[in-house]
Amino acid sequence: MQTHFSPEQLTDERLATADAILRTCVHCGMCTSTCPTYVTLGDELDSPRGRIYLMKDMFENERPATKEVVQHLDRCLSCLSCMTTCPSSVDYMHLVDLGRQHIEETYKRPLVDRWTRKLLAALIPYHRRFGLAMKLGWLARPFRALAPTARMRAMLELVPQHLPQHEPTDRPGVYEAEAEAQYRVAMLPGCAQRALAPSINAATLRVLQRHGCQVTYPDVGCCGSLRHHMGQDALDEARAMVDAIWAMTSAGGGAGLDAFVINASGCGTTVKDYGHMLADDPDYADKAAAVADLAKDVTEWLETIGLRAARPDAAGLRVTYHSACSMQHGQQIKTPPITLLKRAGFTVSQPRDGHLCCGSAGTYNILQPEIADRLLARKVETLAETVPQIIVAGNIGCISQIGRGLSGTGNNAPIIHTAELLDWATGGPAPAALEGVL
Ligand code: SF4
Ligand code: SF4
Repeated sequence: MQTHFSPEQLTDERLATADAILRTCVHCGMCTSTCPTYVTLGDELDSPRGRIYLMKDMFENERPATKEVVQHLDRCLSCLSCMTTCPSSVDYMHLVDLGRQHIEETYKRPLVDRWTRKLLAALIPYHRRFGLAMKLGWLARPFRALAPTARMRAMLELVPQHLPQHEPTDRPGVYEAEAEAQYRVAMLPGCAQRALAPSINAATLRVLQRHGCQVTYPDVGCCGSLRHHMGQDALDEARAMVDAIWAMTSAGGGAGLDAFVINASGCGTTVKDYGHMLADDPDYADKAAAVADLAKDVTEWLETIGLRAARPDAAGLRVTYHSACSMQHGQQIKTPPITLLKRAGFTVSQPRDGHLCCGSAGTYNILQPEIADRLLARKVETLAETVPQIIVAGNIGCISQIGRGLSGTGNNAPIIHTAELLDWATGGPAPAALEGVL
């Protein structure tokens, strides 16, 4: 694609980056057919190519973001399905990051929108605050049909039906391997997941310990993914995470680290991008790139170290694997979760059109509830076609969203995290959600 930035404009690092990305697009339109918003809404401006044109025009003319640009970029899920499809390797992820940054800086959103975003950014990344908000939401949940706005209703619908039990291992510390330690790893504690489903971290910890890992559960907060996804500055969170993990590496003066294990693929995508996010910070660029290199999704790491023999009663259970967008498109992790599940003996299916998002996408299901609901309905239908006994996914956003979609559909298959099922299959306790299935 031809661009028309002046030499002066190209001295601006942001515009130079946008220019380099825009030039790689040959406007072939192949990405449109796999873009969930284009497939759902049928509007070229809600396709990757349409959004690229909108951003090109905005950047070239150094115009403040208009209402139209904001509407179409807000509707983008950042699912990155377009990047998987694009034959020219257009770096849409970093282009839309620049577009969202520009919106934050130049566009004044309506008051309610501004406050909703502020509220989400002030609650979700802090697991204690979020846990408290969830308890209040649980009390209000039965009255969600009376909620005055679709966004408020969407928030209440995402509150779990049963509040989760506290897990005793949900505290910072070093957890020894079950037998002799062969690996030393750190585990991302996370934020929203820690409040919504603490059983996921507990299962991940057990499965790692069982596979010869000494696990450090650091005292750190959010990785910055949520704010970054909304176009807000998340560099302080990224720096704090880099500091915490770097201090455990031998180069950082620690005992050394074989991997930084992450069990929420949305977070994994962000942490793996730290090298890019902090590239311009001379104090952090190298450390951030090193931490990003250490980051591994839990399934990637288990695939590397090898899954131990599974219990015989796992054999034959019908499991449908939902691949989160951040897993398959963001991190390009496609086979490890399926290989591990098959190795454990499960009969594994994947839904039709598995490349299309379930509508979760960070806070998308709250901020764009109508589109998110349409995507969810499609996802629930395609999952049902596989007649699963159990559904698994590697991202808490998808687990909450699909769990909400399944309730009341007559499809009784529970959805849990892949690590929870692998924990049970290799000797851990049965996940509470699987009562009646196992
Ligand atoms: S597929 Fe890639 S090159 Fe083609 S229009 Fe989409 S982003 Fe541009
Ligand atoms: S990130 Fe997803 S929703 Fe956004 S343009 Fe690409 S395919 Fe469409």
